[in-house]
Amino acid sequence: MPELTTDVRYVKGIGEQRAKGLEKLGILTLRDLISYFPRAYDDRRTYKKIKDLEEGESACVEAMVASAPTLSRIRKGLELVKLRAVDETGALDVTFFNQAYMKDNLRAGETYTFFGKVEVMGRKRSMPNPIVEREGSRLVTGRIMPVYPLTAGISQLTLVKAMEQGLAACQKLLPDPLPDEVRQEHQLCRIGYAYEQIHFPAGDEELAIARRRLVFEELFLLAIGLKRLRGRRDELQCEPWRDTDLSDFYGSLPFSLTGAQKRAVEDIRSDLSSGRPMNRLVQGDVGSGKTMVAAAALLCAVRNGRQAALMAPTEILAEQHYKGLAPLLGKLGIKTVFLTGAMRVKERRAILEELAGGEAQVAIGTHALITADVVYHDLGLVVTDEQHRFGVAQRSALAAKGERPHLLVMSATPIPRTLALMIYGDLDVSIIDELPPGRQKIDTFSVPGSYHQRIYKFLEKEIAAGRQAYIICSMVEENGQIPDDRKAAMEYAKMLQEKVFPHLAVACVHGRMKPKEKEKIMSAFAAGEIQILVSTTVVEVGVDVPNATVMVVEDADRFGLSQLHQLRGRVGRGQHKSYCILISDNRNEETRARLKVMTQTGDGFKIAEEDLRLRGPGDFFGRRQHGLPALKVADLTCDMALLKEAQTAAAKLLERDPELEGCPETARRVASMFEVNADAMN
Ligand code: ADP
Ligand code: MG
Repeated sequence: MPELTTDVRYVKGIGEQRAKGLEKLGILTLRDLISYFPRAYDDRRTYKKIKDLEEGESACVEAMVASAPTLSRIRKGLELVKLRAVDETGALDVTFFNQAYMKDNLRAGETYTFFGKVEVMGRKRSMPNPIVEREGSRLVTGRIMPVYPLTAGISQLTLVKAMEQGLAACQKLLPDPLPDEVRQEHQLCRIGYAYEQIHFPAGDEELAIARRRLVFEELFLLAIGLKRLRGRRDELQCEPWRDTDLSDFYGSLPFSLTGAQKRAVEDIRSDLSSGRPMNRLVQGDVGSGKTMVAAAALLCAVRNGRQAALMAPTEILAEQHYKGLAPLLGKLGIKTVFLTGAMRVKERRAILEELAGGEAQVAIGTHALITADVVYHDLGLVVTDEQHRFGVAQRSALAAKGERPHLLVMSATPIPRTLALMIYGDLDVSIIDELPPGRQKIDTFSVPGSYHQRIYKFLEKEIAAGRQAYIICSMVEENGQIPDDRKAAMEYAKMLQEKVFPHLAVACVHGRMKPKEKEKIMSAFAAGEIQILVSTTVVEVGVDVPNATVMVVEDADRFGLSQLHQLRGRVGRGQHKSYCILISDNRNEETRARLKVMTQTGDGFKIAEEDLRLRGPGDFFGRRQHGLPALKVADLTCDMALLKEAQTAAAKLLERDPELEGCPETARRVASMFEVNADAMN
């Protein structure tokens, strides 16, 4: 009798060769197999008579092969099998390219179901490369077909056939990670039914029922895992830090902290003196002054005789932090070093020595801070900036360098509170919901492409007044091929330089440039040597060029609202009035509504809420920037209501059964979901 742990080779048609292919997809056992969900579906349910077939539509046709198929070799490497199929309404020309075996597979006089895309030329109807099977078989036609992510040597059909066998063998054996009462309370279907329907849905409604259950299950397990991690963390102990006087630091700043900044610092200080390792997320809109909050934390570490590290996702950002903070800390007698991957060996060695010996008290840098050869004397605090670019793995690698160092995470991606509680379920959250005083509103416009000339004139005017501008394009040239409907940044920059702004300096940066090159251009832009910077979204995070006052976003509809908000945050950083121009020719109502939100508010949290309302949380999960376990189904479809239901259910279960003793399958699934991440989150 097959079991869930039975090897996939049990399945008919899966031999050594295919088993190897499946292994690449992570499929070793029957359980793995049936847990491999489709990424999409192909609806092949429509049947048509030949005379009703229309150009371009995909449909099933039941028709008889009228005469023996013919095989011809058009040229080397191109074989063509042709046949004519008929029903009572007309004839259909069917062709197969490079599938010579079809000649013998299909017999004159027999009826088959053909599924494919129809071409109509005058009164002739044809179907190139259809999917065929014997009438009535309904394995690959007449139903909703799953579409699986594939790998070399594994075809859709192989998987479909294997899946049917796998499901037949163990659908009934699947233990349910949802306790019965949870399933009933939230009206969720049984696991066997969900698995069957997610692979081979009988219809749209059945698919929706299956999906809802699987999404709930996933979110429920995630919520349980996060709550338990948090619970375990709360039990960890460390030496409480002394509360330190920061008044000299405050006194050295050219401004006083905002109320929200002060509250965040207080949260941090109370964490540090609590006797438990800090695990705090500070969320604050672009420009809300997170760096100063980080600086206060660094100072607390040093005043407690410990080292602190501040890690940024890019060299540019790291350098900016270093340049801003090193003098500030220096004034207070603190030695700060800078460490990136781009450093010369000798220079690097000297810095490593200072870190190992403890002469350097603060380290600022990129991922280079966590490579294996970096040894700290006594690392007590780790701050990561713009954390959504770091996975949990990196966070934990850094954490591993100290004796359970305190962890502070700074994020500029405003995430709605409900979602933050889920995504950062293992962290405490401080929110900086106040901007420093005197910030000007960034005037934001949403305009069609026909405004380009006007926009260029406006840029001209701003630049004549000494300002600078960003222009964001969403795509880079690909293998020499410019995607025709998208503005390739490089081509666009070239055009602007040659045709529109020949007297100005236009430059381009994009994600595929070498970091050195990119760095060079960014510094030139920061130094004012470049007036217009055309860019893909690489400027999105953190760069600070206060003299830049215009942000133009081409094809703005291609970006998420939160991303647009980040982009807009690149301007309005100095004393000059700033502008953001969103260009889009998309007339879609929902798109217009989204862009309008941008023109109406500058509040990142409002924008995130709105983004969430308009697009659903799938996007937040989908971007996988949070470093949580990957979700298989929840990022396809999931609504806020379901997310909340799952969280409530998780909380309730843990209250009743904190060790999950009564539901071993739930415990097992949570453990496997967090396998890789479990240590990281402690
Ligand atoms: P972000 O939260 O985006 O990281 P930064 O820390 O880079 O923001 O701060 C943005 C700018 O605001 C910096 O130039 C910083 O010096 C300034 N700033 C920070 N806090 C205050 C404050 N309380 N009052 C005035 N300016 C401030
Ligand atoms: Mg910042």
